[in-house]
Amino acid sequence: MNSNIETKCIHEGWKPGQGEPRQLPIYQSTTFKYDTSEQMGKLFDLEAEGYFYTRLQNPTNDAVAAKICAMEGGVGAMLTSSGQAANFYAIFNICEAGDHFIASSSIYGGTYNLFGVSMKKMGIECTFVDQTLPAEELEKYFKPNTKAVFGETITNPTVGIFDFEKFAKLAHDHGVPLIVDNTFATPVNCRPFEWGADIVTHSTTKYMDGHGVSVGGCIVDSGNFDWMANKEKFPGLTTPDDSYHGITYAERFGKGAYITKATAQLMRDFGSIQSPQNAFYLNMGLESLHLRMERHCQNALAVAKFLKSQEKVAWVHYADLEGDEYHELAKKYCPKGTCGVLAFGVKGGRATAIQFMDSLKFASIETHVADAKTCLLHPASHTHRQLTDEQLEEAGVATDLIRLSVGIENVDDLIADLQQALDKITL
Ligand SMILES: *Cc1c(COP(=O)(O)O)cnc(C)c1O
Repeated sequence: MNSNIETKCIHEGWKPGQGEPRQLPIYQSTTFKYDTSEQMGKLFDLEAEGYFYTRLQNPTNDAVAAKICAMEGGVGAMLTSSGQAANFYAIFNICEAGDHFIASSSIYGGTYNLFGVSMKKMGIECTFVDQTLPAEELEKYFKPNTKAVFGETITNPTVGIFDFEKFAKLAHDHGVPLIVDNTFATPVNCRPFEWGADIVTHSTTKYMDGHGVSVGGCIVDSGNFDWMANKEKFPGLTTPDDSYHGITYAERFGKGAYITKATAQLMRDFGSIQSPQNAFYLNMGLESLHLRMERHCQNALAVAKFLKSQEKVAWVHYADLEGDEYHELAKKYCPKGTCGVLAFGVKGGRATAIQFMDSLKFASIETHVADAKTCLLHPASHTHRQLTDEQLEEAGVATDLIRLSVGIENVDDLIADLQQALDKITL
């Protein structure tokens, strides 16, 4: 039965039969038993469906992947050990040495490094582009060997909004899929497939888990990209896989080709699985995701308005705020609100930013975002510490930028905390 996103958060995935456990069980087992060798052989030939080894598939993980898949409106999904693994697999599933892809330069620092440094060592080249450029300018970055376009729904840490329609058209005009990291918005606030994205990735470590207990990732396929129509670009999906009995994924699995290949090949060879125990925690987080996202957005908007009104605050970026440069895109793609993360600067730059942060009582300094507890980080002194001021500017990270992840506490308490810390600043 068709249901709304809030109901999907609760009911999708694990669907117990008569007398089965109501809550998703943790299948804490590496392996699964068969009566005949023939039954097991069929699994290896991908002729029958079933479990044989948890590195490839596990019932707990599959139930949670199925829930996220339903929430995004996809046809297939897989869990990974982290968001990093999800983004790596999402690209590596269709790119090999000699290939090229395009990514927005406003993305999570870890992904920037993965694409720009580690994947380069594998012979895969990434061109980072300014995502605010008009389509005619972006057009120039495509090459004959370009295989994908990548962006983030809400950019971390600069909290810009991705223009899905602009990038989906560009990608599809060049016969390549659009891959979007939807971590910050979550499918509660934005469903990229409705705007033309083909593949979605998540760091489930953030809002989906929501309580800071387990690192994890997920990849979801919309099933909309036609690999066979662009046969020569994606030989990994459209020609026989010698390492898997000569199967041609796109022919044999149709809309399920991309996730089947990522499981059968990448998970088999690289093994970045999520543990069933972590998948269980993730599922608990998903059950309240819709409630938490609503409160995160309410609180963040109130905090953004408060900061904006303060003499000692130099600037505030939060796309839900009227007048923000990304406000129109936010209204279009995230009509219910963006997320709880905002960025701002205090007057006096680096030194006052540090003084302000050290004075806070509830809000804690953490290398983390997007969970129930309010936390903050000063990229210039923490995550981006190794960069010079010029490099920071290039990455769009101002030296005074503070990334504030607004939690689900009482907002009056949060504002009082920010107020007393601002009062302590001596300009
Ligand atoms: C945190 C994050 C990642 C990396 O995820 P991990 O689970 O930490 O590996 C990727 N993308 C975005 C947008 C993130 O915020």
